[in-house]
Amino acid sequence: MLVVAKPLFQAPKGTRDIFAPESGRQSALISAFADAATSAGYGQIITPMFEDLGVFKRLGEATDVVTKEMYDFETRDGKTVALRPELTASVVRAFVQHRPGVPWKAWYEGPQFRYERPQAGRYRQFTQVGVEALGTDDPHIDVEVIALAWRFYETLGLRHVRLLLNSLGDPECRPAYFAALTDYLTGRRGELTEQSQATLDINPLRVLDSKREPDQAVIAEAPLMVDHLTDEAGAHFTAVCEGLQALGIPYEISPRLVRGLDYYVKTTFEFAGDSLSAAQNALGGGGRYDGLAEQLGGPPTPGIGFALGIERILMACDAEGVFPGPDQQPQVFVIDVTGGEEALVVTDLLRQGGIRVDRAWDGRNMRSQMKVADRSGAALAVLIGEDELADGVVTVRDLRGDAGQVRIDRASLVDIITTRLEDPAADSVPTGEPS
Ligand code: AMP
Repeated sequence: MLVVAKPLFQAPKGTRDIFAPESGRQSALISAFADAATSAGYGQIITPMFEDLGVFKRLGEATDVVTKEMYDFETRDGKTVALRPELTASVVRAFVQHRPGVPWKAWYEGPQFRYERPQAGRYRQFTQVGVEALGTDDPHIDVEVIALAWRFYETLGLRHVRLLLNSLGDPECRPAYFAALTDYLTGRRGELTEQSQATLDINPLRVLDSKREPDQAVIAEAPLMVDHLTDEAGAHFTAVCEGLQALGIPYEISPRLVRGLDYYVKTTFEFAGDSLSAAQNALGGGGRYDGLAEQLGGPPTPGIGFALGIERILMACDAEGVFPGPDQQPQVFVIDVTGGEEALVVTDLLRQGGIRVDRAWDGRNMRSQMKVADRSGAALAVLIGEDELADGVVTVRDLRGDAGQVRIDRASLVDIITTRLEDPAADSVPTGEPS
């Protein structure tokens, strides 16, 4: 057995090195999301990976993301910055700073950083894709945003995703609900965990987000926001539900869904992947944050968006056996036993023809190059020996089936290989002289 010495350095805890083919699968997933978002009128926004700490503080003083999980540090000039733990705050900061015309619809992708306790599906650096739509509180944009995520999951082939929906009310209905909730939770304070008692003092709503077992009995009987909605917030919620029904998108009302960040109002939603265990099944979520632009120093501007976790989505795809990712292995392997220069030229020619090609190195003999070719997964080998070189031809050999081999001229190489790759069964001897 090969004994590998412990490396001097390893990737930091909670981070991963992602190799091919998984890296290619991740890129393909992001690219599928980019297509979906672009075709719905969302333009990509790219913001810095770190921001002034104050930007993220607006996420709420009672959120773990802000109080416990932030990668914040002082820069050489004494400013405090933080690696972004999510992208909504950065996107809204960019909106406030640049004031694009509204409605403004943006999509994003990129790594986020949270100092969490790593476990399966939970990392300290993870990747999200998402959208934000600012400048309208038309309930149909809520529906558009939710539908975009839903259809994206569908495109990937996921079938076991559940949409959980709630309304968190608006600034008019919140005070009455807050009072009712605070009264209730204060009455049962002694039954709550120490952490939830502390949260209760800062933001009672966030107690509902506790996943700690001892809190569950109290949470189960807590008053519900949906019972305290004003007419306006209620009408908005109804319109969102009706819009989803019109699109045939199934949802479950989940009256205790509050989500991790403080800024949400009205519509709030999460996607649960039922093929994953409860600790990892959050595939994404989002909601309306009508006060956030103002909190970041901008004009009052309604907004709604979502973020989806790429790692979790890929775990769900694995569990459901869908979205294998693009083919990345070479289609053709070039073997040159005449010194290597021919391989250089022929691989370049084939690559210009849009074919995935690889080759061997170091002037190895035919046997050892063939071994590498077999391992590469390529369907065809292009062989160049002294005879081929003298005749200005190459030999094309089938590496998978029993189609044998043919000699063909270089001028028709790209065309013949392309045809053969498209339909390997079509013609065992494509053209040219059988050898
Ligand atoms: P949030 O920004 O907390 O609403 O998270 C949105 C989505 O990002 C979640 O539903 C997960 O899919 C994903 N996510 C959040 N935190 C992590 C993490 N630490 N590791 C991996 N994925 C995460």
